[in-house]
Amino acid sequence: MDFSELSKDKIIEALSLEGEELQSLYDYASKVKLAAVGNKVYYRGLIEYSNRCAKNCFYCGVRQGNKNVDRYTLQDVEVIEAARLAHKKGFGSLVLQSGERSDTVFTEKIAFLLREIRKATKGELHVTLSMGEQSEQTYRLWRESGAHRYLLRIEASNPALYKRLHPNNALHSFEKRTEALELLRKTSYQVGTGVMIGLPFQTLEDLADDLLFIKKMDVDMVGMGPYIEHEATPLFQFRDQLLSKEMRFELSMKMVALLRIMMPDINMAATTAMQTLHPEGREKALKIGANVIMPNLTPLKYREGYLLYENKPNIHEETDVSLEKLRQSIGKAGCVLALGEWGDSKHFRERG
Ligand code: SAH
Ligand code: SF4
Repeated sequence: MDFSELSKDKIIEALSLEGEELQSLYDYASKVKLAAVGNKVYYRGLIEYSNRCAKNCFYCGVRQGNKNVDRYTLQDVEVIEAARLAHKKGFGSLVLQSGERSDTVFTEKIAFLLREIRKATKGELHVTLSMGEQSEQTYRLWRESGAHRYLLRIEASNPALYKRLHPNNALHSFEKRTEALELLRKTSYQVGTGVMIGLPFQTLEDLADDLLFIKKMDVDMVGMGPYIEHEATPLFQFRDQLLSKEMRFELSMKMVALLRIMMPDINMAATTAMQTLHPEGREKALKIGANVIMPNLTPLKYREGYLLYENKPNIHEETDVSLEKLRQSIGKAGCVLALGEWGDSKHFRERG
């Protein structure tokens, strides 16, 4: 198969490849990656700031309707300490992720933390936010307070599929989610999006459309990974219809490889969900297209509270132990760790 021109039909065909042909897709993607962005890997320290969430997405373990979760929010000093640690270790940036809230107490607190992080790290650590859909005013406030990048996955770019994954109300509207992505661009963030792979009801055509959607949105960063079921969520009832975990992992690898070919100079994460389904998931993703890893810097005592899905790895492992293992796997994947650099995507830099 010729991977240089990827039409929708060809993407669908590529998503079904096996054996030697699949290997040739991976080889091709790997070459595209090396030529466009080289073999550097950037770290983004992940802080799972709070699991309080106003939403009820059908797939997510921290949805408001799950009453079996102890709700937490990190103390300010814990956030600043994690930021100092990321800075000290030479990480280019920090990702503050959280359940979605839009009340003023929350939005003002995030603005305050952004300013404190800037002070504590002399403005040398970039901050990425992943806090869901917010108003233009809030996005502006956070941008002005020091956030540079924002991750907001579209989750599923087919509006009909999106509807089946969310309650049918204004808080969970596909149109609002797409508008939020546009607002992020307008308020001058580097924008990241992504989807879940192997969702119930999802077809290969949906996945091909997801890749075309991401390309059309012309984003700077992408994080996508397998959907993993969680017992305490409405989607769990469809678990018998899912692809096996091995197949969901393979499909995610194909998506990463294809997107690298379609958008050679973006930043793309080797996600924790990939590591969850395969112990070497992140290294494998690095080899065939990914160039970003998000080591978890959330204090250990909170990690049990942030289970978006089952079997999340590293919830009992000290940060230094995880980082050492990670350093070794990056080497095994033929990549080098880039410390002391922000690692903005080349795609963003060339946008000018
Ligand atoms: N509340 C914010 C950010 C936190 S959730 C938001 O929703 O944007 C971060 C991501 O976790 C979501 O975008 C979703 O893609 C992913 N996620 C949630 N539940 C998941 C599951 N069961 N399997 C895989 N990924 C999941
Ligand atoms: Fe809340 Fe995000 Fe989970 Fe949806 S995916 S329930 S918004 S944390």
